[in-house]
Amino acid sequence: MAIQSKNPATLEIIQTYEEISDNELEIKLKKAQEAYLKWKNTSFEERAKLFLKLADYLKTNKSEMAKLATMEMGKTLSAGESEIEKSALTCEYYAENSVNFLNSEKVTTNASESYIRYDSFGVLLAVMPWNFPFWQVYRFAAPALMAGNTAILKHASNVPACAEMIEKSFTDCGFPEGVFQNIFLGSTRVEKVIRDPRIVAVALTGSEKAGASVASIAGSEIKKCVLELGGSDPFIVFADADIDLSAEIALASRMSANAGQACNGAKRFIVHNDVFESFSKKLIELFSKIIVGDPSKINTTMGPLATEQIMLDVKKQTEKSIDMGAKILYKGNIPEMKGHFYPPIILSNVKKGMPVYDEEVFGPVVPIITFSNDEEALEIANDTIYGLGATIMTSDIDKAKVFAKKINAGNIFINAQVKSDPRVPFGGIKRSGYGRELGNYGIKEFVNIKTVWVK
Ligand code: NAP
Repeated sequence: MAIQSKNPATLEIIQTYEEISDNELEIKLKKAQEAYLKWKNTSFEERAKLFLKLADYLKTNKSEMAKLATMEMGKTLSAGESEIEKSALTCEYYAENSVNFLNSEKVTTNASESYIRYDSFGVLLAVMPWNFPFWQVYRFAAPALMAGNTAILKHASNVPACAEMIEKSFTDCGFPEGVFQNIFLGSTRVEKVIRDPRIVAVALTGSEKAGASVASIAGSEIKKCVLELGGSDPFIVFADADIDLSAEIALASRMSANAGQACNGAKRFIVHNDVFESFSKKLIELFSKIIVGDPSKINTTMGPLATEQIMLDVKKQTEKSIDMGAKILYKGNIPEMKGHFYPPIILSNVKKGMPVYDEEVFGPVVPIITFSNDEEALEIANDTIYGLGATIMTSDIDKAKVFAKKINAGNIFINAQVKSDPRVPFGGIKRSGYGRELGNYGIKEFVNIKTVWVK
């Protein structure tokens, strides 16, 4: 796949980038390793100072950076700016908290002294997706680098300008050479990098297919990996839920500022029969206000899908589900532009076996499935190969907490949209991946948890 900046709203090719040569790759790996040997010995204070500078840099440059995301993957400018603000917060969070997270811990044993150290790992490879082209990278990099590791980024091939900008942000803030480097690399050459002895572990955020491939290569080299993969999050609306609020959160959760292209977006709406009418009515009202168009225009609320392939996949999944009996409750309009636009659609009468029930749909489609009792709701919620997140809308918080225990997913949000937050761990189970990012747990994924025992 060519490494190309192509505007998904206009189909204009902005720039094509050369893939890194084997010689250049060798130079970058060598630099990353040399930088690691020095960086691991720097203090938390020194690293924190640089991350606080980076946080300021992100805040100062947020509009310029947001424009790159809009241009390359089609999110609205305001969505891009929020993404950069959240990245800045995460840099600050790890600058302030890493020293406490990674402090040595005393353990009482029959030794005269025993404790656990958290030491750095080495050079990490980050394979990242395009849908949150800044946030995904900084949320990996802030804890990984604060822990004393260095990193090489292989970003998605459709966001090279964002990747270049991320590397520049580290350089401009004075991070030592080699601590964070971007490489323009097609996915077929990722294997070579994983197998390089200087790479000690891999973080991948992306599809199941990419995750399975990277994990099997890393596994054959006995190298750790953290996988943040897809999801088909349930969004349960109980009969006692606040319906207006449920519809508002459903809209935000499905569109997730990204035309439905978010791993943690709600993707199956499981609604009690008694409130199906009122919930769908309110949701249609909200959906009819969505303005699909050029994401660089200020009044646009939904841009195009990022690539033609995604648009074709969403279209196929939706049309097949309609052929199988799903009913269109609402279908929005798309602009007369060349880009990869797909209308927001709400479907009812959705059943198991339809692609919109069984698969991850990466676009603005809302499948509604109805239920009549709690057991049925739980069964539908867990009837997925994924396990990333779930939202429960109800006024009965005790019941919601019982559901939180019984739903098989990594992140359960009650009366709220599933969101990542630097203060709490984020990640999935089943085919949504393994390992955690963010919070205290995220920073411990890429450290050597070392036992020291003094007789
Ligand atoms: P993708 O096609 O898997 O790409 C993700 C990254 O993996 C890109 O850098 C891609 O490079 C690389 N890649 C693809 N195939 C690979 C292979 N066989 N070996 C090594 N690297 C490979 O996924 P995407 O379409 O960009 O992102 C959408 C998916 O990511 C969705 O399933 C979404 O749910 C998931 N996601 C999950 C999270 C989370 O936190 N759980 C967050 C965001 C997205 P190229 O671009 O060069 O192919």
